[in-house]
Order: sequence, then structure tokens, then C-alpha cells
Amino acid sequence: MVEDRAAALAAIADEVRACRLCRLYEGTTNAVPGAGSPDAQIMFIGEGPVFHEDRLGLPFVGRSGDYLNYLLNLIGLKREQVFIANVVKHRPPDNRDPLPDEILACKPYLDRQIAVINPLVIATLGRFSMARYFPNGKITQIHGQPKFEDGRAYYPLFHPAAVLRNPDLRRGMEEDFKRLLEVLEQVKQQRAAQTKPDAAPAEPKPPEKPTQLRLF
Ligand code: SF4
Repeated sequence: MVEDRAAALAAIADEVRACRLCRLYEGTTNAVPGAGSPDAQIMFIGEGPVFHEDRLGLPFVGRSGDYLNYLLNLIGLKREQVFIANVVKHRPPDNRDPLPDEILACKPYLDRQIAVINPLVIATLGRFSMARYFPNGKITQIHGQPKFEDGRAYYPLFHPAAVLRNPDLRRGMEEDFKRLLEVLEQVKQQRAAQTKPDAAPAEPKPPEKPTQLRLF
């Protein structure tokens, strides 16, 4: 039930706010556990909070957030219909990249959020979330190419901040976004095909008439 999912996500968020499992909480204003619909069919995973996210405790609220809103709007979606999280829940100092041990320490929170929401599509935003599902992938080569696995699609996208820094990526990003709903539809069809009952068993054949044994 959606209420149970919301309660489970709220419990994870409370744990995140109290978490001291890695150094990243030091010097932060707020943890950024993630936000959105507990029932989301599409989940976005970014890297980590930056300045505005840290101030507000919400993911993607600065310029990157505005651009993400624009992209969602392009395909007729609103923030409230998706769930947005990050691989680390506290802001790395000076917006540096999260370190491997920090990503590892924070991983159980993200794993649990995914398990609760059970989205049909996980869209990764940037290198660090992409590496969870495409360990050897290069974003410039694999962006916009979904991987279908275990009844779900993993869909690698550029990070919105990278697109804002490099407008040459903008067209590709927007084309990838426009394909997102097709990918979602493909997953739905795959799941429906898997749950379809097998073809009705054939009517049992009537027993054959016993053949008269030839005695002579
Ligand atoms: S980044 Fe994750 S693991 Fe590190 S303190 Fe914050 S919630 Fe805990």
C-alpha cells in the first residue's frame, strides 16, 4: 500500500538525518534523503547534494533542479510523480566527488529506497549512479541506452549539471528524456507478458477405443 511505502521511506529519511556512518555529515546543514512519490514508476538517482540542496534538505533544487523540472515537463511529468534520490545523502565539501568509501557507506539507504519504491525504470543521472548498474560504462557512449533486467529498465542519463556546463550535451539529453516514456512502456509490456497465464491446456483426448485383440 502507498501509505506503507510512504512510512517506510520516512523511516529511512529519519535514519539518514541521524546518520554518522561516514565523514560527509560534518559541516552540512541538512541531510538530503530524497523526495517524491512512494509509488513512482520512474526513479532518478543523482550523485550528491550541492549548496542549495544542503540548505533545503531537498534534491535538485538549484539550477540543475530547474533544468530537471524542465526535462520532466518536456515529457508531461511533474516532480511529484517521480522519486529523486542521490548516491550520497550529505553534501560532499566544496561539491567534490563522493569517495568510494562514502558511496559504500551510504549504499544501504539507497538500496532500501529502491526496494520500497520498486520502480519500473531507474534513470541514473551522471557517473556515480551509472556505475551502480553499468560498472564499465562511459556515459558519453551509453547514455540513452536502456538495460532491461529483472523486470526493470536501467536508463543512463547525463547529469543535468554536466549539461548546463556543456550545452553541446543538451540535445542528446533532451532526446534521451523523450525516450524515457517509451522505455517505461516497454517494461510494462515485458511485465505484462511475464504475468500472462500460459495458454489454456489442451482438452484431454478421449481415451482411444480399446482395439479388439486379435486372437487369431
Ligand atoms: S552520506 Fe550517507 S553514509 Fe555518509 S553520513 Fe550521510 S547518510 Fe550517512
